[in-house]
Amino acid sequence: MVKEIFVKSILNKHKVRDSWFLDDYSLNPYEACAFNCVFCYIRGSKYGENMQKVLSVKVNACQLLERELPRRARKGEHGFIAISSSTEAWQPIEEKYRLTRKLLRIILHYRFPVHVLTKSKLILRDLDILKEIDKKAILPKDLRNKLNHSVLITFSLSTLDSKVAKIFEPGAPTPRERLETMQKCKENGFFTGVAYIPVLPFISDSDEQLEEMVKTAKDYGADYVFVGALTLFGIGKRFYYKVLDRYFPNLLPNYRRLFRIFNQPNKEYQRKLERKAMEFCEKCGIKYKIL
Ligand code: SF4
Repeated sequence: MVKEIFVKSILNKHKVRDSWFLDDYSLNPYEACAFNCVFCYIRGSKYGENMQKVLSVKVNACQLLERELPRRARKGEHGFIAISSSTEAWQPIEEKYRLTRKLLRIILHYRFPVHVLTKSKLILRDLDILKEIDKKAILPKDLRNKLNHSVLITFSLSTLDSKVAKIFEPGAPTPRERLETMQKCKENGFFTGVAYIPVLPFISDSDEQLEEMVKTAKDYGADYVFVGALTLFGIGKRFYYKVLDRYFPNLLPNYRRLFRIFNQPNKEYQRKLERKAMEFCEKCGIKYKIL
């Protein structure tokens, strides 16, 4: 059962542009997500173990966006809108509601650029509108001499191993399917990349795995790669540990050490991850991050 809800706002304006994803705004047509990834950070604060049960569609999203975007456009506040920053905008119910598609049409009309973050094959349905946005959107002034694209399409993965993905991203398309979908986006002329966020400590974060991930992204046509660490807190942390206990019980002590104080691995872990990611990107001839 999908709950239909009315919300007060649909477009969130950030105080500061996201330095990785370049978005000034974010927009999420749904609440919760049927892909139900074990590590999903949105579960951490409010959703339970099965997000399928609390899935909601924001039925007044189009009316709200129709009100908000012209106002922003008149003031010349064009900036990247991140779509799917905290839910999957192309999850299965989108086939029925077609809400993301309707929102994209409004975005096209007011000429805002978009950064799409997805794991879904359904995005291929909307490449027609995304192509128009890529041609017609207005980039923020300070990005005009740095970017030639008004649509960025990023696929997120946490591992290349389909068995591991089945455990940690049970409802999402397989890693291979995501990479193949990205390849199709690339063949259609889009600027695309892979966000290996989060890599899973002791499961998909070894140097060999990272190098393979970067190389694979390049082989499938990615223009850029992001690599980021896992965040665990609240309900999400308890759920993740439960899954670990079931499939990788020997790793629990390592995780308890790594996440003993903070929600993320310590700075040393994060610095090494970034250093290695940059090193492998340079070796494979692919950009680390977008700019
Ligand atoms: S696809 Fe994204 S939003 Fe959906 S459960 Fe996975 S991490 Fe969360």
